[in-house]
Amino acid sequence: MATRTLSMTDGLHAYLVANTLHETEAQTRLRDETALLSNSGMQISPEQGQFMTFLIKTLGVKKALEVGVFTGYSSLSVAQALPDDGQLIACDVSEEFTSVARRYWQDAGVAAKIELRLAPAVETLEKLLAEGHTGTFDFAFIDADKPNYDAYYEAALQLVRAGGVIGIDNTLWAGRVADPENTDESTEVIRALTAKIHGDARVDSCLLPIGDGLTLVRKR
Ligand code: CA
Repeated sequence: MATRTLSMTDGLHAYLVANTLHETEAQTRLRDETALLSNSGMQISPEQGQFMTFLIKTLGVKKALEVGVFTGYSSLSVAQALPDDGQLIACDVSEEFTSVARRYWQDAGVAAKIELRLAPAVETLEKLLAEGHTGTFDFAFIDADKPNYDAYYEAALQLVRAGGVIGIDNTLWAGRVADPENTDESTEVIRALTAKIHGDARVDSCLLPIGDGLTLVRKR
C-alpha cells in the first residue's frame, strides 16, 4: 500500500545508500570533506546527486546552468554526466566554498566542462541573457539564497529551451512550508513560488520529496 510517499527513516535511508548508490570516488571524498563544515546541510543528499546524474543522462543534456555551487557536489553530479563537449555554467558568490568545488572538479577530470562565474547570480543571469544565451540551456538547477528564488526561476525559464528542465531545490524546506505558524521570508518565498509554479501555464511541473524537496519543471 502506497498512497503516499514513505517516511524516510534512518534505517531505510541507510539501506538505500548501501544498496543503490553509485558514487564516484571524488564524490565520496567531497562528501566526507564537506561533512566537516558547520553548514554541511547545504549539500544535496547523495541519492539526489545520483538522481541528477541519471536525469542529465536521460535528458541528453549538453548545456546546463547551476545557481548555487557551495562545495560542488551537485555540479560534480551534473558535470560527470555531461558529454565531453558538454558545458556547465555555475554561479556562486563564495570564493571559499567554490575553491573546494574547483579542487574536486579537477580531481574528477570535469573542470574543463565547468565555467564558474563568481558574482551575485541575479547579475550573472542577466548577463547570460544579454550575452545571447536565451533559450539555449537544456537544464538548470536552482539551489541558492531563497529570497531570490523567484528571480532565479524567471531568469532560468528564459535561459532554458522549450522542453528544457529546471530543478529547484529545498522546496519542502525541512517541512517549514507546511507550518502555517512559520512566516520567515525564505519560507514565504518558497511557498509563493510553489503556488506560482502550480498554476504556471508556461511549464509542466512536479515536486519530488527527495532530499529537502526538489521541484522539477519542464518548459513548454
Ligand atoms: Ca539545497
